[in-house]
Amino acid sequence: MTDTKLAPISCDTLPPGTLSVEQAQTRIFDSISRIAASERVSLWQAQGRILAQVVTAPLDVPPHRNSAMDGYALWHADIAAGLPLKVIGTAFAGRPFNGAVQPGECVRIMTGAVVPEGTDSVVMQEHVQRTGDNIQISGTLSVGENVRHPGEDMRCGDAVLVNGRKLNAADLGLLASLGIGEVDVLRRPRVAFCSTGDELKSIGETLQPGDIYDSNRYTLYGLLQKLDVEIIDLGTVRDTPEAVEHAFQQAMQRADVLITSGGVSVGEADYVAATLQRLGQVNFWKIAMKPGKPLAVGTLGNTLFFGLPGNPVAVMATFLLFVRPAILLMRSETLPRTPEYSAICDTPLKKAPGRKDYQRGICQQDANGQWHVSSTGGQGSHQLRSMNQANCFIALPLESGNCAAGCNVTIIPFDGLL
Ligand code: AMP
Ligand code: MG
Repeated sequence: MTDTKLAPISCDTLPPGTLSVEQAQTRIFDSISRIAASERVSLWQAQGRILAQVVTAPLDVPPHRNSAMDGYALWHADIAAGLPLKVIGTAFAGRPFNGAVQPGECVRIMTGAVVPEGTDSVVMQEHVQRTGDNIQISGTLSVGENVRHPGEDMRCGDAVLVNGRKLNAADLGLLASLGIGEVDVLRRPRVAFCSTGDELKSIGETLQPGDIYDSNRYTLYGLLQKLDVEIIDLGTVRDTPEAVEHAFQQAMQRADVLITSGGVSVGEADYVAATLQRLGQVNFWKIAMKPGKPLAVGTLGNTLFFGLPGNPVAVMATFLLFVRPAILLMRSETLPRTPEYSAICDTPLKKAPGRKDYQRGICQQDANGQWHVSSTGGQGSHQLRSMNQANCFIALPLESGNCAAGCNVTIIPFDGLL
């Protein structure tokens, strides 16, 4: 149940200069240049990287006919004829039996061992009674049972991994099984970040009146570590045009992306947007969202720029909604839509129409699989505790008002994001 007494607001009726979250996302994502450069890495470094080549199997996997079971390799026609079978040797994985197997003979065989010439089937040992060197078989066995054939998994010449594939643990094993130890992958985006603010102190420094510790740098560092990027920490930057410019210059030389926090509003010590305007191209946006209204986006030469707000929760929300997907796109990843679920909200929520809210909630599924969510309490954009206690955003649409307990809401779980 939402309060609908106020005039409805839509993306088309936002105040001038204000964008909806979706409009801002489209503008940002449409402007992304994908990284084209690649580098060769060993499989040990390839997890999560984006493949920049097609991988063709250079050999058959498995390379040889081998047993799927511990048992006895035999010629099927012999048991069909009811012959007693004599064990003439053993085939181990990596130690083939090299002798010739004649009618009436069989070979003890282990899983993965080469199936000897002169045999065509493997009977599992649980179906065999062995007396000395003779075996008796119980149950039925079909021709070729428990025999794996060369190329059954991959054939030499097969294209097994496509260009642009994000490599996972299964891919690493597959490459190793083909004897491939190195692959070409896209270069990682280089992402520089810094905090701005005269009030910010580093951990270990004594807080003077009015000071606070710089928490955004740690948050951003943590968020970036969840992505496959090269991280460049530009530190805490003072509120002077020179200091901000110095940080921007460094990023322009070294980074594909620069992320700043703070100094992006219209306060007298906010130099981020002005510096961006001087050195690059600026798009300053008010976004109809809470937390995170001001956002500066632009370019500094070839460096993509994100000026995030200073308030810690706004930093996290704007990073997750705009910066993270932009970085994924740079890596040529198809945008994974962050999973959203419909949930029953068990606590009332305060909300003013006109901005899309990303309130912080604690969600869980009940015994029937129905999602429930409750608010973490204080929702100020400075209250990092609301984020740290939460396991999801509660996304409330632009036009909605207060939400009574029991209403249906959309939740976005944080799984894997933070
Ligand atoms: P600003 O956008 O610079 O006006 O900052 C908005 C609010 O966020 C102020 O209360 C700042 O003190 C706070 N803030 C800015 N940067 C940081 C930071 N790196 N860590 C923690 N709080 C910050
Ligand atoms: Mg500031």
